[in-house]
Amino acid sequence: MSGTVGSARTRSPPSAIIPSPDPLVSHRAAGQNGVMTMPSGDSPSTTDSISTRVCVAGGGPAGVMLGLLLARAGIDVLVLEKHSDFFRDFRGDTVHPSTLNLIDQLGIRAEFDAIGHALLPRLDAVVNGVRLHAINFASLPAPNRAITLMPQWDLLKLLAIEGARSPHFELRMGYEVVDVVRDGAGGRVTGVLAQTAGGLLRIDAELTVAADGRDSIVRKALDLAGREFGVPVDVTWFRLDRPSGSAPDTLGYLSDSAFIVTIPRPEYLQCGLLVPKGSFAGLRRDGIEAFRQRIAVAAPRLATSVSSLASIDDVKLLSVRINRLKTWSAPGALCIGDAAHAMSPVFGVGINYAVQDAVATANLLVPVLRAGGSPKAIDAATRAVQRRREGPTALMQRLQRSVHRIIGTGAGKRVLQNPPTRRQRVALRVAIPIIRPIAARVVGYGFRPERISREVLGEGAARR
Ligand SMILES: Cc1cc2nc3c(=O)[nH]c(=O)nc-3n(C[C@H](O)[C@H](O)[C@H](O)COP(=O)(O)OP(=O)(O)OC[C@H]3O[C@@H](n4cnc5c(N)ncnc54)[C@H](O)[C@@H]3O)c2cc1C
Repeated sequence: MSGTVGSARTRSPPSAIIPSPDPLVSHRAAGQNGVMTMPSGDSPSTTDSISTRVCVAGGGPAGVMLGLLLARAGIDVLVLEKHSDFFRDFRGDTVHPSTLNLIDQLGIRAEFDAIGHALLPRLDAVVNGVRLHAINFASLPAPNRAITLMPQWDLLKLLAIEGARSPHFELRMGYEVVDVVRDGAGGRVTGVLAQTAGGLLRIDAELTVAADGRDSIVRKALDLAGREFGVPVDVTWFRLDRPSGSAPDTLGYLSDSAFIVTIPRPEYLQCGLLVPKGSFAGLRRDGIEAFRQRIAVAAPRLATSVSSLASIDDVKLLSVRINRLKTWSAPGALCIGDAAHAMSPVFGVGINYAVQDAVATANLLVPVLRAGGSPKAIDAATRAVQRRREGPTALMQRLQRSVHRIIGTGAGKRVLQNPPTRRQRVALRVAIPIIRPIAARVVGYGFRPERISREVLGEGAARR
């Protein structure tokens, strides 16, 4: 069963944070206790440049977590986010036990718990009408034995607020990275160019980190080669009223006709219906009634809620991709999170993998940057990030692709009949108890979960 915990409240932000839509969320400058705020009218002119030690492009889970960790370790960091707020409805909502362990390590659990969220101690899937208790996180070590469902904008805001408590942290909203800056043609990356309300701004940095997601501009500018894995499905994204009754929250409904993911939010269900790639235009043409029918047939429990979907315009298409760079870094630059490896929504692990990349990056870079950080040493550390994270990422992507193969064509009956055959019943009785604890670890932690090193935590531990 799931539960909703806490209310939408956190400690009030430090004065270094100006809530959006002001493009400048925080601004660090020398001479004012390390922190100053600027009114949005004081935007830079095209000739302006600033410098920092690490410039992070993208204020998603990877970028904001990396900013927070570096700042805690006393490394000056500037995070640039192109949007003026975190309020993207299509961001995933899952915070897995691996990330909850990091929240504990950061000492911000009370602040996290104060934000409204739901707990999913187990994940049920309804396959062709048969409910399977496929994953139960009770088998994980205490204290984090559940997935938390929290709107991602709340999580990002919490991490940004915590980052801004350090004088080394700066997050600028409404700053869109448009290119990298190099030391001569094809030379070492020495920073980025960002488009701001007041024109172009050059940011000089010892290291540039691309955390700008799967359409990463930085990755394009670096011209790094990658491998695209074909994905047969896309996701249509919409909200439904919560169905009445007390059945447990279900994460997935797999039938012959569809696969639907439901994410319980306090007021409504956020739903994703997987559709074959390229079929969205036809689906729109068929209209809202056909779409409602499709949901009701695939997930009868949602039948009473489908009328809350007013128009086909309320159904958005999210394209699913899986890819991975061959080389995650170039001299002076590193890609992490979806910028290095776009993840599918399967198992909802993309956010957690992005966060794990950020932790590995901080763990490997902080000792180098603290020691002065020669270009050679920085580049060696960025290559070590890839060595550490590539294997776990490749394994998870392989798993995601095998799930795509099962659900891509609506395979409910092939997986399980209703009622299950005798053979299927025996297989389920034998297999599920064996699979459940393994699945809990794989989904809850991913492969090779990271811990924040003592060196990264050092300053924060002393401060708190
Ligand atoms: C339909 C769908 C559903 C998903 N659901 C889940 C889920 O429930 N749970 C889960 O764990 N994962 C989910 N994922 C995967 C997950 O969204 C990603 O793996 C994860 O968000 C990656 O985090 P990131 O920080 O690397 O990148 P992102 O979350 O993409 O963040 C990148 C940030 O960079 C900013 N940015 C982009 N370009 C620039 C620029 N030029 N300059 C400055 N800023 C820029 C963006 O605005 C964004 O804030 C889902 C994916 C899809 C496609």
